[in-house]
Amino acid sequence: MSSIRGRAVGPRRGPALETMTDPVEAGRTEPGTTVQAIVFDDRDSSVELRAVHLAPPGAGEVRVRIAAAGVCHSDLHVRRGEWTAPAPLVMGHEGSGVVTAVGPGVDSPAVGDHVVLSWVAPCGRCRSCLAGRQAQCQVAATVVAPGGVLWDGTSRWSLDGETLHHYLGVSSFAEEVVVMASAAVPIRRDAPLETMALVGCAVATGVGAVMNTAAVPAGATVVVIGCGGVGLNVVQGARLAGASRIVAVDVLAAKTTEARRFGATDEVDAGAGDPVAAVRSLLPDGADFVFDAIGKTRTIEQAVGMLGLGGTAVIVGLPPSGAVASFEPLLLAENELRILGCNYGSVTPAVDIPKFVDMYLDGELLLDELISARRPLSEAADALTDLQSGTVLRTLLVP
Ligand SMILES: [Zn+2]
Ligand SMILES: [Zn+2]
Repeated sequence: MSSIRGRAVGPRRGPALETMTDPVEAGRTEPGTTVQAIVFDDRDSSVELRAVHLAPPGAGEVRVRIAAAGVCHSDLHVRRGEWTAPAPLVMGHEGSGVVTAVGPGVDSPAVGDHVVLSWVAPCGRCRSCLAGRQAQCQVAATVVAPGGVLWDGTSRWSLDGETLHHYLGVSSFAEEVVVMASAAVPIRRDAPLETMALVGCAVATGVGAVMNTAAVPAGATVVVIGCGGVGLNVVQGARLAGASRIVAVDVLAAKTTEARRFGATDEVDAGAGDPVAAVRSLLPDGADFVFDAIGKTRTIEQAVGMLGLGGTAVIVGLPPSGAVASFEPLLLAENELRILGCNYGSVTPAVDIPKFVDMYLDGELLLDELISARRPLSEAADALTDLQSGTVLRTLLVP
């Protein structure tokens, strides 16, 4: 998932930039390192393993050796050109690893810490962060994502002298990365580090959508459209919230069957007819909450159509830039419907990521079941093709 989303906001500089230090003057002594990384080049849409240069961490930054990176639909959006991420870039936004170096001024994490990478590195000082909405951090939204850079407006990546961009400040399809310190969230040492990569996007987005964005109460009826990596996390979030019914909707029967393992009580084959009618036959009063984890105009409109009185539709999957959905406003008013946007599960990374790790180790969250395959970094393009075909949930790239 991403906060790029074709926002009309230009790359104006957010607050907290006065703390930035020129990377050249940040006391760097090491010349940087060469690492293998997956580079997406928008000039020919290529996705290739390249030996790229990674500069050392500057002030407030850390270097992380990647244990595993998850392949997410947002990476597909980039490859297909559906989002305008600054390119060429080093791909990936879900990952875990071990901190190998810290820049000046970093007190956490420390070298040796196990971390999950967050694709929002909250500045902690902007209006959104101070109001407790770190997933809407203004520095992340106006500098990092639209610029393809770190907080100081520059990149640590280059290839043959050409600057490469970071992707969402993470770029996890690489052996090592440099990220802002707040993007590297320390986790327990007893958690399996490769598997924990999924916590950084799929779990944070899906479970966060239920617990944070929508705050689904016990007993509510829930519909989840799309049962991929994020959708299944919405399903298990709804189970943990105590939903009374959880209806899984997908065009692939194998995915709705899989959703039962995560807590779904009912299945709807969206390819077999009108899914809105099918849901209404299961839930005659309509749903209290419908989560669209697909992000197509049509599924968003279907989500609104499935709502009961006072119901809430939550847009979790992200459409291509510029897509426009329609609904009947009179029904929204009369029935007091709500449509909520959800960016990154409305998480507070430093609080929610360790919590999700605890929930996995307590047996509440299923994560191993989401991992369809492990592939070497060099097979990133194949992993993206697998995801597009719908044959896999999550592939972990293991450098
Ligand atoms: Zn993602
Ligand atoms: Zn902020």
